[in-house]
Amino acid sequence: SEFTAFPLLASIIDRVSLKGYTQPTPIQQACIPALIDGNDLLGIAQTGTGKTAAFALPIINKFGQNNVEIKTKSTRSLILTPTRELASQIMQNIDDYAEGLGLKTKVVYGGVGRQPQVDAIEQGLDILVATPGRLLDLIENGDIHFKSLEVFVLDEADTMLDMGFFKDVQNIIAKLPKSRQTLLFSATMPAEIEVLAQAILTKPTKVEI
Ligand code: AMP
Repeated sequence: SEFTAFPLLASIIDRVSLKGYTQPTPIQQACIPALIDGNDLLGIAQTGTGKTAAFALPIINKFGQNNVEIKTKSTRSLILTPTRELASQIMQNIDDYAEGLGLKTKVVYGGVGRQPQVDAIEQGLDILVATPGRLLDLIENGDIHFKSLEVFVLDEADTMLDMGFFKDVQNIIAKLPKSRQTLLFSATMPAEIEVLAQAILTKPTKVEI
């Protein structure tokens, strides 16, 4: 089956075709309809499987067809990922898929200036891609709140654990509204991630690739 089989905005299908994707990968096949339906998701999959588009296309689709005034210092979706490299790649992919839809997006990570990040968040965002350390810093300084959050993606949860970011991740999750759509991706499922998944996901669709 093809991307046209999904109920995605025509511009998203066009962007995906322009990237040269002809067939959805297995994880995209399984995730995209479940996410469009609003389900929570547990994805056991590695990088390289096409998981970025699997979570990004439904998020872009949701906000691309529902342009609302976004409150200052808030974001409608948060994608938390362990490294700046992953964060940059995810943001590039999203901006590419979302071109023409007028979404407000920003990537934030440490090691670079805060002020451009603070200025972008102040405008209100549809999609924020972040690493844990800088995001906690922004939260603690009052530069962001999550009153408008609709979708939360925890990417590479096991890598977060391996890199020592687990406490930061838990502190961030504690700041999010309980009513939201939640997606958790992990290549492996150690006990800590199992427990976290049970705590933050509600009747998730489970996809194992
Ligand atoms: P990811 O696992 O999200 O890092 O994606 C791995 C690579 O596969 C990236 O270079 C994507 O651009 C590419 N990709 C994602 N979905 C597809 C698809 N349906 N067809 C071909 N390539 C894809």
